[in-house]
Amino acid sequence: MSEPDWYCDQVIPRAIDVDVVAETDDVLAFRPPIRGFGTEHVIVVPKRHVRSLLELDPALGAELLRVTQDVARQVVDAHGGCQVLTTLGDEQHNRHLHLHVAAGEGVARFVRRKD
Ligand SMILES: [Zn+2]
Repeated sequence: MSEPDWYCDQVIPRAIDVDVVAETDDVLAFRPPIRGFGTEHVIVVPKRHVRSLLELDPALGAELLRVTQDVARQVVDAHGGCQVLTTLGDEQHNRHLHLHVAAGEGVARFVRRKD
């Protein structure tokens, strides 16, 4: 059974409505229809299938990072800060590389454990 790929199946072909924040020939940045986390949440993906950060080629990586940088700058300007993160292995639920740019209430807080 092939794994469902929401990005290749729905988002990139625009089978669903997403709020596009930035787009280049190779990269799409959008707000998901259901906010995953944060008061601001933008997802940045390569428009061709790349399984994860570990399979990303450096040329596409540079473009992905450039778009992510533009989006993150806008989010920092609007919200004072943000997180940029991607997931890998067992932590990655959709097997299409995606970066989250998220700010505000609901984002993960990387704080030192007290125990
Ligand atoms: Zn894909």
